[in-house]
Amino acid sequence: MNITIALAGNPNSGKTTLFNALTGSNQYVGNWPGVTVERKEARFQLGDDEALLVDLPGVYSLSPYTIEENITRHFIAQHRPDVVLNIVDATNLERNLYLTLQLMELERPMVIALNLIDEVEKRGGKIDCARLSAAMGVPVVPISAKKRQGFDELFQKLHGQAHAAVVPHPLEQYDDSTRRAVKELIVAMGGASAHSVFDAEEHYEHRDDRHRDDDHDSSAPHAHIGGYADEGDKDQAPPTAWVALKLLEGDQTIAQAAYLTPDQKHSIERAVRDYEARGREQYPGIDSLTLLADCRYGVIERVLKEAKVEKKVTSQDEISARIDKIMTHKYLAFPIFLVIMGVMFFLAFGPVGSFLTDGMDLLIGEYLTGWAGAGLSAVSAPEWVRSLVLDGVIAGVGGVLTFLPQILIIFLFLSVLEDSGYMSRAAFITDRLLRKLGLSGRSFIPMLVGFGCTTTAVMSARGVENDRDRRMTIMLTPFMSCGAKLPVYGLFTAAFFPGASYLVVFSLYLLGMAVMVVCGLLLRKVTFKEGDTPFLMELPPYRIPTVKNVARRLWDRAKDFLTRAGTLIFAMSVLIWFLKSFSFSFQMVSDPEQSIFGVIGQAVAPVFSVMGFGEWRKIVALLSGLVAKEAVVSTMMVLYSASDNAMLASMLPNFFTPLSAYSFLVFTLLYIPCVSAVAAMRRELGSWKYTLQAMAMQLITAGVMATLVYQIGRLFGLS
Ligand code: GDP
Ligand code: MG
Repeated sequence: MNITIALAGNPNSGKTTLFNALTGSNQYVGNWPGVTVERKEARFQLGDDEALLVDLPGVYSLSPYTIEENITRHFIAQHRPDVVLNIVDATNLERNLYLTLQLMELERPMVIALNLIDEVEKRGGKIDCARLSAAMGVPVVPISAKKRQGFDELFQKLHGQAHAAVVPHPLEQYDDSTRRAVKELIVAMGGASAHSVFDAEEHYEHRDDRHRDDDHDSSAPHAHIGGYADEGDKDQAPPTAWVALKLLEGDQTIAQAAYLTPDQKHSIERAVRDYEARGREQYPGIDSLTLLADCRYGVIERVLKEAKVEKKVTSQDEISARIDKIMTHKYLAFPIFLVIMGVMFFLAFGPVGSFLTDGMDLLIGEYLTGWAGAGLSAVSAPEWVRSLVLDGVIAGVGGVLTFLPQILIIFLFLSVLEDSGYMSRAAFITDRLLRKLGLSGRSFIPMLVGFGCTTTAVMSARGVENDRDRRMTIMLTPFMSCGAKLPVYGLFTAAFFPGASYLVVFSLYLLGMAVMVVCGLLLRKVTFKEGDTPFLMELPPYRIPTVKNVARRLWDRAKDFLTRAGTLIFAMSVLIWFLKSFSFSFQMVSDPEQSIFGVIGQAVAPVFSVMGFGEWRKIVALLSGLVAKEAVVSTMMVLYSASDNAMLASMLPNFFTPLSAYSFLVFTLLYIPCVSAVAAMRRELGSWKYTLQAMAMQLITAGVMATLVYQIGRLFGLS
């Protein structure tokens, strides 16, 4: 028989180690459809079965906040693997079992691989797997993925579960109020398949039922979860009780996918409200999401007690809790956050960063241009080819490439922060701040992603549950300074603020965040939102970042940056070279002011003189920034006929004052994001109307802020 095994677990639980140990070298590596998350699978022989092991992305929970979570839950809920192999970090049981319960809610047969058992023993701990297994209702096998121990039993249990007839549902262990709410929700959904969970005799879903799912779920809402669609295979309906649990959590992704009628929605809302009302008797002000999390942790606590797991085994959490006393301290947290960010910008834009950038500049500006020039002369290339290669391609692409070291430093820092677990704290801390301002904290996760790439950030806003919050997040995320703007900052700070470049860049990042907050408040006024849901966030334990993880993230970024430089920026540079070298009658012109760009730029430039940069070349640079933000630099390189960055930086003071340079940077920070981000906004907002509104807001904000900076600066006698 062919069986599919899904490998799921928290990040850092040893998933990759186990996957490699189980499957050896015959792995197939690809991507999940539509996203750049790696998908690995491999076949191996499991007894008399041919097993396909699919490695799911590491996740802490099955909320719809991230692409990884969406992939994992979609795969298990709707692709229905035969067995879920849940790898659990034994040194961190409590947190890991939180995911385990959520995986069990998906009603697939399961085996728990209790990994890092060697680590537990080293610490003098012991876990009674038989008891744990009995308490959870799922086979638990102690293993060490690294030392390849426990695999025989694991294979045996996997084989057994793949042919298991019954699957226990964790709901059996959930508290009465939660069970009642789920029951009410299933009725509210009009589902006929409530039996699988609630009928006394039928606590179990029968494996063979999965072929009839389409029938017996036909009257229940048919949820197709967004995130990714598996080609070829037909998705099955997710389990009814799981859909009910997600509706109880207020999971908007599910609610939208379920095609509910107004009547159904109404009954669902009432059931959720009743659930909250019952919870509030004990915890005033609590919401359903938190209640359900509390319920799951209650089960875990009981399970751990029943299994007599010693506390010291989970010491990882205690160390983390101690670090968090400082890192998330009421008053210290935010200053610490600022200091960490400050150090990052100092490294990237201070002495170290500029040293590296100078080196790159030398490499590209001196050697590459020199060699290319000599080579072109040697073959006596016509003048226009020389111009295209030297002034167009090398200047444009090279100008952007120069900033690779600085970008890598920033992303190295962000990767380390992320891998160590600090990024989740940053979101947590900022949430507290945002909530004081009356904004939803949930939005901060996509906003953090926005430091990297606006497009990705807009897409990850899918996880924000409340529809208005989500729209707001999508409209505001572009204010977070994305990585592609770094070359622009690098160029200008080197030219105008050499001693204080990192402070200037830092100020831009902070300004972006401040503008986001203010616009958020204004939007909130306009759309007057009612009370929001408290923010519940998993804080993963602190870890020493692994070189492998950090290197992989860094490489992803570098690859992304280099690909863009080689494709988009390359094409842009050629196009811009053409538009600045040729007139409307397609004649090559010697004076760029008569070129196509010159004519257009001069027509619109006057509008921008209140901001201090009413000159056509600057406007054209900003226009090309709409394609990709790095193109602002490559365009200037081409338009000012500079051969390398150092040369451009030395020329810029002829065209900008420090004040107008800063105002230009502010505009660059805030104006409309690049086309791919706009396309993502359109997709996620679902309408051109909102997209255009958002773009208008961004453009107006950029204009107003740049004008304010320039005019107020002049009032204070700056120039
Ligand atoms: P993933 O993020 O879930 O893919 O985790 P990895 O497979 O990358 O493992 C994370 C870290 O845990 C690595 O440093 C592994 O070497 C280590 N590791 C994995 N399994 C074990 C184990 O059984 N025992 C010990 N001591 N370390 C392990
Ligand atoms: Mg891994």
